[in-house]
Amino acid sequence: MPRRTPVPDSAPADPRFMRRALAQAARAAREGETPVGAVVVKDGVVVGRGRNQRETRRDATLHAEMTAIRAASRRLGSWRLDGCDLYVTLEPCPMCAGAIQQARLRAVYYGAKDPKAGACGSRTDLFSVPGLNHYPSVEAGCLETECAAVLTDFFRALRAKDRTLGTRGVRRDKAKAAGTAGAAGAAGRTSP
Ligand SMILES: [Zn+2]
Repeated sequence: MPRRTPVPDSAPADPRFMRRALAQAARAAREGETPVGAVVVKDGVVVGRGRNQRETRRDATLHAEMTAIRAASRRLGSWRLDGCDLYVTLEPCPMCAGAIQQARLRAVYYGAKDPKAGACGSRTDLFSVPGLNHYPSVEAGCLETECAAVLTDFFRALRAKDRTLGTRGVRRDKAKAAGTAGAAGAAGRTSP
């Protein structure tokens, strides 16, 4: 049973593009969002960018990858992103892995693993499901240290702020009460 269709024309990760994804993550952090960023690249050019905007736009689907894929589709005028590669700072979740498969992306390069929700090998692996009509190549670990640090720094700062304000646990309790996935990654994303 072939686990993955080999993609002969996919190249090793180019850290320059992961830095562009990291810039998107930094922007998300400044907005108070769990810092995850992504870019879609075609022929060495960034054709779509995205950052996590779940809280600011109150939309569970606005993960960095989804926005980057939508932007690339708009720019290229096609839902099919043949020959396009996605760089994302955190391992894609099941929703984003599904979108990656649907958009026919050629390759996925991610930085940090997400043991709680990663769907490219950590929690589950969508691309190990046999019989799909498309399989991207997947490479983990591009600028992994930087990609993980942007998350740990963000949550460390959040905890420090909670200690200062005496609001530890308040965000999470509020999120639970509202029945949402939680503010700034209290659940569903790499958590503090
Ligand atoms: Zn996602």
